[in-house]
Amino acid sequence: MADGDQKQTFGFQAEVKQLLHLMIHSLYSNKEIFLRELTSNASDALDKLRFESIGDASLLGDDPDLAITLSVDKDAGTVTITDNGIGMSRDEVTENLGTIARSGTAEFVSQLSGDAKADSQLIGQFGVGFYASFIVADEVIVETRRAGLSASDAVRWTSAGEGEYSLEAIEREARGTSITLKLKEDEKEFLERFRLTSLIKKYSDHIGFPVQMLGEGDEAELETLNSATALWTRSRGDVSDDEYQEFYKHLTHDFSEPLAWSHNKVEGKREYTSLVYLPSKAPFDLWNREAPRGLKLYVQRVFIMDDAEQFLPLYLRFVRGVIDSADLPLNVSRELLQSHPSLDAMRSALTKRVLGMLKRMASDEPEKYQSFWDEFGEVIKEGLAEDFANRDALMNLLRFATTHESAVQNQSLAAYAERMIDGQEKVYYLTAESLAAAKSSPHLEVFKKRGIEVLLLTDRLDEWMIGHLTEFDGKALQDIRREGLELPGDDDEQSSDASASEDDDALTSLVEKLKAQLGERVSDVRRSDRLVESPACLVVPEHDLGVQMRRMLEAAGQEVPDNKSVLEVNPGHALVQRLAAESDDAAFEDLALVILGQAEIAQGALPEDPGAYVSRLNRLLVNLADQ
Ligand code: ADP
Ligand code: MG
Repeated sequence: MADGDQKQTFGFQAEVKQLLHLMIHSLYSNKEIFLRELTSNASDALDKLRFESIGDASLLGDDPDLAITLSVDKDAGTVTITDNGIGMSRDEVTENLGTIARSGTAEFVSQLSGDAKADSQLIGQFGVGFYASFIVADEVIVETRRAGLSASDAVRWTSAGEGEYSLEAIEREARGTSITLKLKEDEKEFLERFRLTSLIKKYSDHIGFPVQMLGEGDEAELETLNSATALWTRSRGDVSDDEYQEFYKHLTHDFSEPLAWSHNKVEGKREYTSLVYLPSKAPFDLWNREAPRGLKLYVQRVFIMDDAEQFLPLYLRFVRGVIDSADLPLNVSRELLQSHPSLDAMRSALTKRVLGMLKRMASDEPEKYQSFWDEFGEVIKEGLAEDFANRDALMNLLRFATTHESAVQNQSLAAYAERMIDGQEKVYYLTAESLAAAKSSPHLEVFKKRGIEVLLLTDRLDEWMIGHLTEFDGKALQDIRREGLELPGDDDEQSSDASASEDDDALTSLVEKLKAQLGERVSDVRRSDRLVESPACLVVPEHDLGVQMRRMLEAAGQEVPDNKSVLEVNPGHALVQRLAAESDDAAFEDLALVILGQAEIAQGALPEDPGAYVSRLNRLLVNLADQ
């Protein structure tokens, strides 16, 4: 025998060890999912073989009937799941059952807290897969032979799930894989055939291959447990909600129920069936650009590939499901798919279908839609920049916080538009770091006074998104922190009392003095029409970058033009009046810079010189105390 034939022991990748440990504890209350995971792997292995045999029929040999078989050995206390699928070579076993290749795993493991309940949610999203075996087994033995390799190239993998596994070469007559679980002492319930049968019916009925149970005793008959027709090939009316939900879990490994799904057969020029799901929770790697995404692609019921991302735009990357095409070629590769003439039409039809589902949910089940929006709203916003063709549909899906007093904090643009006051022609919005910061912004004062609603945008992408939006239903969107703010009815609001011109003179000289004092720190100083309670605020010149965009670009290390804001002062405010009356130069400087600093703080920024700002403020407070 060659050296490699001896039994050798290896350590698991560190993250596998950690994950195994946490999984066994946090998934205990869901322990029967091991069976779903193992049958799902077996079905994947059959799918892969069927796919490879398109190019090389000899892989099927004299064993063309693909199936999954369960057997129980009560004396030994074992359950075995066997498939005659693709199998694994020795290298594949090491790669697949010793490491977790998915990117972001380390980060994911570091998020686990050790709190069983919280972790089980996360682990559910991550997908436990094969390792779920160790929830119920002391020891797991995998025997496998890759299709196309010879009987002596088979391998046995054994592990107690505690940090190491061993590998040895074996002889195996048939291609495929069998996985044997030595059940833990208190998991013997899984030796009961009735229990196994009902679990298969519950979890795996929709699998497109027969799942059989090997009979007891010598007669050893095979009983088929499932209906063995791929779920999406059945007609909608024949599939129950439960079945749709189970299929979703099989497909995604998600523990939570899907939020919604849509199952459709398209006939005519292009024929295909699609079954798409909206998850109820965002996956942990939603923002990882490399994370797998896309639909599972079948051609004429033959599995072709996982994660076919070509069928949906990037901003719908959270959609899961299956597409089964009747007219794509069986040998379609990712590259071929990309340039296939049917692709654009299918992609645009699927995109419309998903947006239609969301539209319906938003109108018929607003609470459900809200929970969707909370999870995926930020991703939908990307669509406004990405998908011009569906802009109107996307705009109607947006939800915002607003200043409307009775509004739940999530309003559509249409609801805003309905509440616009007489003469209002624009949709007003304010961006800020947080909702609290937005609500206390001095820029809102005049809007509150006049009863005009303002959208409060606090997601980091909002300003960028608004840049792509520009108008809703013919109404321009207006950043209320910008210059040139026009409010409805501005013309007839001119005050005309007798002292106005005297006040104007005093104000003009204050403005000039402030400009001289503040110099380069502001681009201009002006009288404000938007302030009621605050002495001053900063306003962004009309064509400059917005505050949020500026911050985002700076954070990304990009060079940003050094534009200055305009300081607007409220002539009606006592501090401004005091400033106008101040004759001492040093005191004027202190007060002027404190007012500017306050305006900077209200905008969520630090004054340019925080230490100096604090000293000036303290001098003013001490003076105040002395008076
Ligand atoms: P996933 O199914 O999400 O890839 P699993 O942990 O369930 O993750 O399985 C890990 C890998 O092990 C699979 O991707 C597959 O390559 C391999 N594998 C597991 N079970 C089988 C099997 N019965 N036949 C062939 N390969 C298998
Ligand atoms: Mg799996």
